[in-house]
Amino acid sequence: MFSVLRISCLLAVFLVAAVAVCAQEAPTPDAAPVAGAATAAPGDAPVTLPEPSEKAVRYYKTGIVLWVFAKIWELFVPALLVFSGFSARMRNLAVRIGRKWFFVVVVYWVLFVLVDFLLDLPLSFYAGYLRQHAYGLSNQTLAKWTTDALLGILVTCVFGAVFLWVPFLLVKRSPRRWWLYTGLLIYPFMFFMLFVVPIWVDPLFNDFQQMQDKALETKILDLAESAGIEGGRVFEVNKSVDTKALNAYVNGFLQTKRIVLWDTAIKALTERELLFVMAHEMGHYVLGHVVRGVFVFSTLALVSLYVIYRLGNVCIRKFGGRMGFTAWHDVAALPLFLFLAFVVSLVIEPVGLTYSRYIEHEADRFGLELTQDNHSAATAFVKLYSENLGYPRPPWIMKVLRSSHPPTAERVDFCNTYRPWESGEPLRYDDFFVR
Ligand SMILES: [Zn+2]
Repeated sequence: MFSVLRISCLLAVFLVAAVAVCAQEAPTPDAAPVAGAATAAPGDAPVTLPEPSEKAVRYYKTGIVLWVFAKIWELFVPALLVFSGFSARMRNLAVRIGRKWFFVVVVYWVLFVLVDFLLDLPLSFYAGYLRQHAYGLSNQTLAKWTTDALLGILVTCVFGAVFLWVPFLLVKRSPRRWWLYTGLLIYPFMFFMLFVVPIWVDPLFNDFQQMQDKALETKILDLAESAGIEGGRVFEVNKSVDTKALNAYVNGFLQTKRIVLWDTAIKALTERELLFVMAHEMGHYVLGHVVRGVFVFSTLALVSLYVIYRLGNVCIRKFGGRMGFTAWHDVAALPLFLFLAFVVSLVIEPVGLTYSRYIEHEADRFGLELTQDNHSAATAFVKLYSENLGYPRPPWIMKVLRSSHPPTAERVDFCNTYRPWESGEPLRYDDFFVR
């Protein structure tokens, strides 16, 4: 999702943070079919995690190289645009076309998004399409990839046109405090995005519908009731047109709050495994992880804005002549903002990922306490890992820098050993359960 809309400028920090929250369950591209290996064990036995296949190891190692390259590219593109003076030239063109301040911002944004898309195209096409097909992870047609990419541009342009004038106005009105006011606006903005994305944006890319298997839906709703969820909504989405990976996630806010199951997961998992996955998602739902995530990521964005403001002032003082602008309120400063946002994210992102791994672990605990089906939980993780070509034990530095979820080996170990109910110890989330 909105890693979906990975874009730029002030909006980029908003979106990157919103993506992080909304895409909590984005599959960690990390695993090789070992179908059957996990399910062969009897009903409640500990599950042994199979070693990754040669293909999964290759996918993981080349993935690290690609990740490092993408990080460098992410910094290089805005740096190139701003320090070469190209951004100032785009601003001049935007002024000629747009004339009035508001339209200049909109035209610049559209030009920027198009240029950024073209510069990123080889990398995004390789990583998102060619590589996924090469490793047998994708079902996506070239036509679907192209339409999704074009839709992504359209959505990005529209959101920028609607919102980007706000931070620029704040910069204009309050050159010293804009980072604070913009940062404070991120909180309501994120809730707004959380509200509209599930109903207005997600359906542009895939079909969301009620669950087709009514018997399974009834079991899920019964489970939701025992998790204390009244009137929960479960949607099924046709991700099989895009990928072979398995996933589920919670999204939305107030009326748009929902649990979404990928059809690939419904097909590949047994009923007990699916119920554990749903119990994990219900954990996010009941424990308020989406809303808490908004606060955590908005706060990280606020801190980032302050650092960007300070670093940017130094850059503008030193390189203003070369960049072709002398103040933040110049729309040509957008790639400078983006460049600094990516620099700052190198430090801030591991903090957000640590928090993400923590809530994922707590959702695992919630799911285990609710279902008390350790075996199915562990086999579900083995299947997710296998189908998603995962890597079970990443080096600690890769975990710190990249993992939004605990490594599969840790999750399977936890599923095999966490059984407080057997020794009569209290459950951490017992108060939430309606038994
Ligand atoms: Zn989760």
